[in-house]
Amino acid sequence: MKFLINIIEKLKNKEELRRTISMAENPEKGDLNDWKDKDKKIETKSVEEVLNNKSNIEKTEPERKSEQENEQRETELKDNEQKKPQEKKVIIHAKAYKSIILYATRYANSSIRQEEWREIYGILVGVHSDDAVIVERAIPMTFGESHDVELGAKHYGFIAEIQDQLDAEGRGRFMVGWFHSHPGLSLFFSYVDVMNQLSFAQPNPDFIGIVFDHTYLLDSDLKPQSYSAHPSPANPNYNITEDYDTHPFKTGIVCYRLNDPFITQDNPKFDTNYHDVPYEILGLDQYFFANLLTELSSQVAKGRPLETAYREPDAPPSAQPKAAQADLSQNQGAPLGDMGWKSDEREIDLKEIEPPKEPSEELSQRDLQKIPLTGPPEELSAIPGVLPSEKLKKTPEESKLDNAMQLITEGKTAFLINDSFSAVEKYNQALKILDELGNKYIDRMLDTYVDVAESCLESKHENLAIKFAKELKEKAENVGDMFQMANADFIYGNALLKKESTQEGLEHLKNAAILYENAGDLAGVGKVNEEIAKIYLDNGDYTSGALFLIEAMQNYKKAIEKFHVKRRSSWALPANLRTAIEKMKEKVRKYMEKIDSDEVKNKIKNDLRDL
Ligand SMILES: [Zn+2]
Repeated sequence: MKFLINIIEKLKNKEELRRTISMAENPEKGDLNDWKDKDKKIETKSVEEVLNNKSNIEKTEPERKSEQENEQRETELKDNEQKKPQEKKVIIHAKAYKSIILYATRYANSSIRQEEWREIYGILVGVHSDDAVIVERAIPMTFGESHDVELGAKHYGFIAEIQDQLDAEGRGRFMVGWFHSHPGLSLFFSYVDVMNQLSFAQPNPDFIGIVFDHTYLLDSDLKPQSYSAHPSPANPNYNITEDYDTHPFKTGIVCYRLNDPFITQDNPKFDTNYHDVPYEILGLDQYFFANLLTELSSQVAKGRPLETAYREPDAPPSAQPKAAQADLSQNQGAPLGDMGWKSDEREIDLKEIEPPKEPSEELSQRDLQKIPLTGPPEELSAIPGVLPSEKLKKTPEESKLDNAMQLITEGKTAFLINDSFSAVEKYNQALKILDELGNKYIDRMLDTYVDVAESCLESKHENLAIKFAKELKEKAENVGDMFQMANADFIYGNALLKKESTQEGLEHLKNAAILYENAGDLAGVGKVNEEIAKIYLDNGDYTSGALFLIEAMQNYKKAIEKFHVKRRSSWALPANLRTAIEKMKEKVRKYMEKIDSDEVKNKIKNDLRDL
C-alpha cells in the first residue's frame, strides 16, 4: 500500500508517467478524455480512490489463469523451436581487436601506395564458454603479398610453440581462430581462405576466421559489419541479428565459420562454404579509441612499429644491439607478448606521410585514418586528443587506469565463462583503483558499476547486483548524475523482481523512469515502461500491460529524435528502437482481443495510429 502512495507523490510532477500509471492502475474508471488533458488525472482523484482500485497485479482469477496457461504453452512451443543447437557467438576483447587493426594498418594505410598494401595474418587465442567463443588475444604472425597470404612451416612451428606455452599456463586457453586482412579488397573468404579454415575447423567446428579491411573502418556506406551487443537486464530479449549493420562503431572486421568443415574440394559449393557469425567487441568505446590514439602516436614518435608479429622485436632492429637481437631470437620460453624476433621478412618502409587535412573535432575511429604513421612528432600533436611527444610516456595515473581497464576486461570474461567469483573479484579491484584515481575518472567508475551490477543480475546473483546498484546510486548521487542514478534504480528494481519482491521492485522501476526522464533519456523511460508492461502482462493484466507498452513506444519514438549522450546501449539506436516499436505494436494488437473495455480499445487504437 505504502508504495502506491509514495509513487503517486513522486509522480505529482511527472505528467506523462502519472497518466500512464494511474490509468494502468485504474483502467476501467479512468476518464479517457483525461488522457488528452494531461493536467487533470491525479488531481481529480484522491489517493484513496487510486488505492481502492489498486493494480490487477494482486488479483488472481481462474479465467486469467487459463489465459496464462495458454500463453505459457505458446512460449514453451516457441522455446522448443529455438532449442536447436545454436552456434557459438563470438566475443572479442578490445585488446585483441587492437592488435589486429594495428598490425594490419602497419602494412596497409592511407600513407602507403595502394599497390604496396600487404595482407597480414595471425592467430586468435582465447577460451570457449557455453555459448560463445571468447577471443582474448590476437597474435600477429606474418605479412604477405597483396592477397592470399599463406602459412609456412615456420608459422606452424610458431603456432605449436604458442600452444605449448598456453598449455604450460594451465588456464585452458587455446587457439580459437585466425585472422587476416584484405586491404582494400573487401570482406569475404577466398578459396585459399576456405582451405586454411578447413584445416583448423575439422578438429574444432567452432573455429573462427576474422577478416579485416581497414578501408571499412571509415565509412558507414560500406556495411558488412556484424556487430552485436551483449544481452543485459536492460536488454534481456536481445536478438543478435537485429543489430546487424546498425552499430555506430564500424569495426572493419567480419567473422566467419564454415558451413561444413568436412566439405571436399570438388564440391561446387566449396568456395561459398562459409557464413558470417555475429560478434561483439568487449570494451570498444570512446575510452578505447582515445587510448588507442595515444598509444598509436606514441609508437610512431618512438619510431616503433605499430604492432609487432610473434618473435619480432618491439623496436626497429637497427636500434638494438646485435647481442640483444641474437639473444631474443633464442628466446624460447618467454611469455607471449614479450617474444623475441626471428623473422627473415623484409621490413616495409612506411611511405611519406600526408599530414591530416581536416583534423576532426573529437576522438573517434575516423581519426585512425588520419594519424600520420611516420614523421616528426609536432605533426602528431596537431591532431586533437593526441599528446605532444614528450608527454607520450604513460604517467603512473595512466598506467593505473590501464590496469583497471584490463581488470574490467578480465572480469567480463570471467562472467562469460560463469566464474562469477573471480569476476566480482576483478571488478572490485578495478573499482578500488578507479576510486583511488579520484573524481576525474568518476564516469568510468560509474560505468563500471553499471557493468558489474548488470552482469551479476544476468548471472543470477541478485544480492550482489543489489549491493553494486546501491553503491552506484550513492556515488551517482554524490556527483548529481541523474542518468546513473536511474540505472541504479533500474538494476535494483530488476533484481528485486527476480527475487519476487514485485511491489518493491516496481517502486524502484518507477523511480528509475522518473530519473531517466529528468536526465532526458527517453529511451530509458521507454525501457522502464516496457519492463513494467511485462510485469502486468505476466500477471494477466492485459489492459495495464498494453497501456504501458503504448507509453513505452511513445517514449521510444521521442528517443529516436533525441538521443541521450550517455545512453550507449545498442538497443537504443534509432534503427533498433524502430524495430522495437513495430514489434510492440504487434503485441499490443494481439492483447487488444483480451481487453474488454471498448473505451480503452479505442484509446489504444488511436495511440497506435499516432505512433
Ligand atoms: Zn583472404
